[in-house]
Amino acid sequence: MEFDYDPSNVFARILSGEIPSRTVFENETALAFHDVRPQAPVHILVIPKGPYVSIDHFAAEATAVEQAGFMAALAEVCRMPELEPGFRCIANTRETGGQEVPHFHVHVLGGAPLGPMLS
Ligand code: 5GP
Repeated sequence: MEFDYDPSNVFARILSGEIPSRTVFENETALAFHDVRPQAPVHILVIPKGPYVSIDHFAAEATAVEQAGFMAALAEVCRMPELEPGFRCIANTRETGGQEVPHFHVHVLGGAPLGPMLS
């Protein structure tokens, strides 16, 4: 599969500082920030800093350092006290999978009972 990254996507513009965001955590290779339209009391997006379109692109082509940095950022978010009772991680992938922003991201949702996923 060929992955074609659009460098003008909204998360690239957040990474460049062109669009402001509320940072939760940042390391060398990843950024976590609040979703602008939260679907739960806690709704964080975790993204790699590198130009990856989707989770399968990231898994196939990101370096071990990038993958470790991303997982470290995700783990940091998952340790937020509000998420201790439970939370959900989602990576919408491509149009059919409901992905709107073409820069790989994991949604972390929690802070309230979420119910079954496909209700
Ligand atoms: P997707 O549907 O691609 O999985 O999710 C994209 C998410 O990005 C949505 O939940 C949407 O609310 C969020 N989003 C879109 N534009 C912005 C923005 O400019 N800032 C922030 N913080 N989140 C955004």
